[in-house]
Amino acid sequence: MENKKAYFGEFGGQFVPETVMTALFELEKAYDELKDDKEFYENFEDLLKNYVGRETPLYYAKSLSDYYNHDIYLKREDLNHTGAHKINNALGQVLLAKKMGKKKVIAETGAGQHGVATATAAALLGLECDVYMGAVDIERQKLNVFRMELLGAKVVSVEDGLKTLKEATTAAIQAWVAEIETVFYVIGSVVGPHPYPTIVRDFQSVIGKEARHQIEDLGKHADHVIACVGGGSNAIGIFSGFLDDKTTKLYGVEAGGLGIDTDKHAATLTLGREGIIHGMKTYVLQNKYGQILPVHSISAGLDYPGIEYEHSYLHDMKRAIYAPITDKEAMDALILVTRKEGIIPAIESAHALAYLEKLCPTLSKDRRETIIVNVSGRGDKDMHTVFSVLRGDDVNE
Ligand SMILES: *Cc1c(COP(=O)(O)O)cnc(C)c1O
Repeated sequence: MENKKAYFGEFGGQFVPETVMTALFELEKAYDELKDDKEFYENFEDLLKNYVGRETPLYYAKSLSDYYNHDIYLKREDLNHTGAHKINNALGQVLLAKKMGKKKVIAETGAGQHGVATATAAALLGLECDVYMGAVDIERQKLNVFRMELLGAKVVSVEDGLKTLKEATTAAIQAWVAEIETVFYVIGSVVGPHPYPTIVRDFQSVIGKEARHQIEDLGKHADHVIACVGGGSNAIGIFSGFLDDKTTKLYGVEAGGLGIDTDKHAATLTLGREGIIHGMKTYVLQNKYGQILPVHSISAGLDYPGIEYEHSYLHDMKRAIYAPITDKEAMDALILVTRKEGIIPAIESAHALAYLEKLCPTLSKDRRETIIVNVSGRGDKDMHTVFSVLRGDDVNE
């Protein structure tokens, strides 16, 4: 049985075992019912406002604008509670879990950001929370492990394979299937089988809704909107507010790592081709035998070998442009924005900011065009990496 709602063009779908299909079906039904649930949305909006701190400002970056000779506005997702856009989605999904009568949520995490956001929402709403994390990542991201534990979550160490995100995801799915009646799986980005990407996109679309009315309230029109792309949630969140206006150009910035002529990057739409990953059909970085390739980025949030399927669709339709930014270009942008604006962005967000360097020289010389960059998160979590780079350490091992 093919579910039409599960596809964007030829992308998307539900490529999962039968045991998981039951849970997806239950989730889709619960989510459909939410559409008319005023109380749920009032509660969600109240929490977004008073707990997360929305709406986030659309800040006119004057020094950066003078530097590039175009008007640059920063959408300040870095000012959200827990420091990034991820909380919008985690809170929405944990609320949904509670509504469905689940007692426990589980999540996978790489760098720990989604784990912290989920543990935060679970603490707030009084649900049990298990976070699956590779043993290597646990070692690398001690501070986030402490945070999750302090918030009352159980961090489950995954010892298989390379002991990182991919294995943690597999372990989380197995744990979910084992307790599928009572457990809700909180996915961290717009990935996975339908209806997850739709749900995550809807919860993140608040970014685009706000940005659209904020720029229009200023009497301006957004000529360009830029966001970084890991799984694609902050990008589709902001894009969704502008998709209907073809005069706004959209740019998704992928992790170019050490360069797309090396094998250390995560430039999925630049170099990938159609395949299946985590239950969905989309662009995937793979070798000629269809095996998923290892990925690299200096930012833990962008090293994903797939991408949300609506991005694949927008790419093929040429509605959005996708381009890689290297580790070095991102670090240069991080330092530039920090010095010019006193805002330390997350290294992920610095990829989006680095794209200004490519875009601005191609724009009109006589008119200042209006550009919105989504600052998906703040850089506090990255201080260790930033200092290693400035010190000249090799951070690519
Ligand atoms: C996780 C993360 C990302 C990448 O995830 P998307 O789903 O592509 O948005 C980007 N920026 C920050 C700050 C993150 O924590």
